[in-house]
Amino acid sequence: MSDVKQNFIPYGRQSIDEKDIQAVVEVLKSDYLTTGPAVQRFEEKVAEYVGSEYAVSFSNGTAALHGAVFAAGIGEGDEVITTPMTFVASANCVLYQGAEPVFADIDPKTYNINTDEIRDKITDKTKAIIPVDFTGQPVDLDEIMEIAKENNLYVIEDAAHAIGATYKDRKVGSIADMTMFSFHPVKHITTGEGGIITTNNRKLYEKLLQFRTHGITRDISSLSENHGPWYYEMQFLGYNYRMTDIQAALGASQIDNLDKFIEKRKEIVQKYNKEFSHLKEIITPYQSPERNSSWHLYIIQLKSELLSINRKGFFEKLRQANIGVNVHYIPVHLQPYYKELGFKTGDCPVAENLYEHIITLPLYQDMTDEDVQYVINIVKKLIVEHQIK
Ligand SMILES: *Cc1c(COP(=O)(O)O)cnc(C)c1O
Repeated sequence: MSDVKQNFIPYGRQSIDEKDIQAVVEVLKSDYLTTGPAVQRFEEKVAEYVGSEYAVSFSNGTAALHGAVFAAGIGEGDEVITTPMTFVASANCVLYQGAEPVFADIDPKTYNINTDEIRDKITDKTKAIIPVDFTGQPVDLDEIMEIAKENNLYVIEDAAHAIGATYKDRKVGSIADMTMFSFHPVKHITTGEGGIITTNNRKLYEKLLQFRTHGITRDISSLSENHGPWYYEMQFLGYNYRMTDIQAALGASQIDNLDKFIEKRKEIVQKYNKEFSHLKEIITPYQSPERNSSWHLYIIQLKSELLSINRKGFFEKLRQANIGVNVHYIPVHLQPYYKELGFKTGDCPVAENLYEHIITLPLYQDMTDEDVQYVINIVKKLIVEHQIK
């Protein structure tokens, strides 16, 4: 069996080519470093790619989510439903606005938020749903948009994992009221740090623009007074959440590679599936017939009852073999901060149970065939060694 590799294989990483580097260098030689023509170009490219009317970039995906929660008019006394199987940002953005996150448990098959659970959690105070396209697999958008319509709620889709994914032949980013994409280096395409909201709603678009720059506007038609050509107004409390032109130039160059990146990820997923799907000790990811995942993460579930090694042991063995496995995610409601807010073990049993069994295997566009084969070999070797016969 293969020797331990010298190089560490991370669970995800960016791909930067010469063209990306040149795009950034050009900005560094230009007049604008921060929010200038490159930001606008990047926003137009993302909107065009996903098929939305508008796109507003932010300094990171979390800031973008905060902007979306603000633009939806959410504040103290309001409730927002989200999933526990996500990064903390999906719920933190609700807390930033003084509102309450409510966790609806997940579907054990897709790992995405369970729409029946959403219905159960709706109260008079509910203002929005923040579904997460976990691992890149779109949520049931028709059903969620229908629930939102019936109950007069906003849908803020956390698509940090799902740029390029499609739902019934429509691109994620063109369907929900607002959709967030993140450009952290571990995501499909990167701006270093960065995020964006896409929307088809002009009012939301204008709110988002103003929110990311202190609540300031220079739009003459909306000013309450006008002292002269220098005049601007701060009309609500916003933040400095702007993206720089340096970042946007990188993003605008990266997006040209996105479809190629997704294809590469799919090829790796197919190799993993081919080797793992017939092993009774492993549950491979669900694939919907009507949705195309963009494959941000490849997560396996271990059937520990069939193995003489538990998830922690399996994880440690993989790390010892220099494979940068990870666990996505610790359910948000189990974080100490959230427990202090009153959430507890037992609130979302399906997510809690899933958390006990999952391991994220490496998946990124520049992964070599050799690295993929190495991961496959080590996983299969561990399964064989620890099978309960
Ligand atoms: C990465 C991520 C975010 C936050 O994005 P940042 O750009 O890192 O702020 C939000 N939600 C999910 C599900 C993510 O994976």
